[in-house]
Amino acid sequence: GVRQRRALADWLRERAGDRARGRLVVLAGPTAVGKGTVSAYIRENYPDVLLSVSATTRAPRPGERDGVHYFFVSDAEFDRMVADDEFLEWATVHNLSRYGTPRPPVEATLASGRSVLLEIDLQGARQVKRAMPEAVLVFLLPPTWDELVRRLIGRGTESPAEQARRLETAKVELAAQDEFDVHVINDNVERAAQEVVDLLTAVRSAHAPELND
Ligand code: 5GP
Repeated sequence: GVRQRRALADWLRERAGDRARGRLVVLAGPTAVGKGTVSAYIRENYPDVLLSVSATTRAPRPGERDGVHYFFVSDAEFDRMVADDEFLEWATVHNLSRYGTPRPPVEATLASGRSVLLEIDLQGARQVKRAMPEAVLVFLLPPTWDELVRRLIGRGTESPAEQARRLETAKVELAAQDEFDVHVINDNVERAAQEVVDLLTAVRSAHAPELND
């Protein structure tokens, strides 16, 4: 279940352990919950937050820049990165393209004492938990199931068959929420983003005053 706020603050402090190391926060959640929107909001409004740039085999969408939103790589290059153990985690998402978190920048940033945010899928989040148990796993939740359905269909980018398939996926993904350390409800992008940023920085917040040092 969701940890009580106070218990969460204690637990985050415990995890800080070696204060010199930054904190790794992983943002995941069901399909269409708005992970991308929340992370884009953080990228725009919190320039101090280090958002890991994933490698992907999918093609760039209009407006996406190589090295900013993703590193766009070929299948062969992705294969090479897997073979050379360059990923902290990687997964095939929606049975389509491969996505992975390059390990060296994450390691270097944490070692320098700064925190890192990963916005990845559920399979990836599980791999990170296994590789780095001290990571803080955040599950982004829709306010209600109906709202998730509305968002998935409202996006209008998928065929009805694909929409049905993704809703099935979302149902399975929602069932994984108890594997996560923290739940954040995405009823409002600004507020949800603020909650995630608070976890990275553990600074003063009206919503989680207990996180104050
Ligand atoms: P999109 O193609 O819409 O940008 O992202 C599709 C999905 O891939 C999203 O659920 C996103 O969280 C996930 N994703 C993006 N980067 C990574 C990554 O490095 N690893 C994993 N496992 N998933 C990722």
